[in-house]
Amino acid sequence: MIIGLTGGIASGKSTVARAFAALGIPWVDADEVAREIVAPGEPALDEIAEHFGNEVIAPDGSLDRRALRAIVFGDAAERRRLEAITHPRIRERLIAHLARLQAQAAPYVLLVSPLLFESGQHALVDRCLVVDVPEATQVARTASRDDVDEAQARAIVAAQMSRQERLDRADDVIDNSADEDTLAAQVAELDRRYRATGLPHSS
Ligand code: ATP
Repeated sequence: MIIGLTGGIASGKSTVARAFAALGIPWVDADEVAREIVAPGEPALDEIAEHFGNEVIAPDGSLDRRALRAIVFGDAAERRRLEAITHPRIRERLIAHLARLQAQAAPYVLLVSPLLFESGQHALVDRCLVVDVPEATQVARTASRDDVDEAQARAIVAAQMSRQERLDRADDVIDNSADEDTLAAQVAELDRRYRATGLPHSS
């Protein structure tokens, strides 16, 4: 069984993933895989350079994310072009990582993905688990963790999928508005349920 774990910025996805890991559950991080597939030497990076030009390649040969973001920001067609290069490869790599983890006989595995729904990666999982916090908490935790002020944090939260839409699409929800012990107790309860269910992966 594969559980897709998602939530908005600073909702607590990594903290939840670590709590599952402490119970012996492995995870794959979609963000990490998204970075892997554009590393130097990867065909996706060559395709990106071919389409967007060498100005998106840093002097050391790595992807200049800032330059690429500047091009695709606000340009839907260019964004779609980028996604057409990256998404199929991310998906393929995720499937391979998940299959490898499942072969290790874990009771179930996690796919941690900030854009689980937006990227279509929810199709790879059996259940969607949403980490939920009020937007004010997201803003406060973002501002205290990252180098942004509250107004910037609010703008980031506002640009993401809404809290309600995420909740509407969730099979399971973790409320991370309280302390980390409360969070760990919810993770332990879900872990019991997931182990008991043992749904086979449908695809
Ligand atoms: P992102 O997607 O933005 O990388 P995330 O969803 O993985 O974030 P975390 O990095 O787990 O979120 O948590 C965001 C911040 O909030 C961290 O600084 C973390 O220590 C803090 N945090 C998480 N859960 C709690 C909690 N229950 N109480 C207080 N602080 C918390």
